[in-house]
Amino acid sequence: TDIQELLLSRIRDVADYPEQGVMFKDITPLLADPAAFTALTDTLADIAGATGATKVVGLEARGFILGAPVAVRAGLGFIPVRKAGKLPGATLRQAYDLEYGSAEIEVHAEDLTTADRILIVDDVLATGGTAEAAIQLIQRAGAEVAGVAVLMELGFLGGRDRLAQALDGAPLEALLQL
Ligand code: 5GP
Repeated sequence: TDIQELLLSRIRDVADYPEQGVMFKDITPLLADPAAFTALTDTLADIAGATGATKVVGLEARGFILGAPVAVRAGLGFIPVRKAGKLPGATLRQAYDLEYGSAEIEVHAEDLTTADRILIVDDVLATGGTAEAAIQLIQRAGAEVAGVAVLMELGFLGGRDRLAQALDGAPLEALLQL
């Protein structure tokens, strides 16, 4: 579609970042273009509406940049899921494996209730490790996952398959497949 072409045209490939052999997808040109950023926000907000989400969760850090305007546009609250140690209140914490080692993410426990249906927003789905941990965090809090929405899915890394079980039928929407 025209929107997909616009979005794709504003994503920059950066070779060998953050390490040798990785082609990093840089979204900063898209963020700097108001037409593209608005189109992205509106499309993700439509998805939030379609899933019946009650709140938007954004994953640190680019998921904050995309998720916050999506929440405002969709008329929903925004909840940050942060790397461990950044949130001041009582948190739930979830560990997940990285290529080398592991990482932990957190959410303020009181931000999520059993009545919530959460749309998780991030820029890129790669291996799916981050999104899977976020789904587990939300489910442990007793909330429901309405879906995951990302700007791009790096299909060759198999994230969609990794998330299938945790999603339990909830949609994974990727605006671009790369
Ligand atoms: P995963 O956990 O799916 O392997 O990695 C996804 C996380 O890493 C996302 O939070 C995303 O922001 C970041 N990420 C991984 N690869 C890229 C990339 O090529 N470009 C951008 N912008 N983010 C990436």
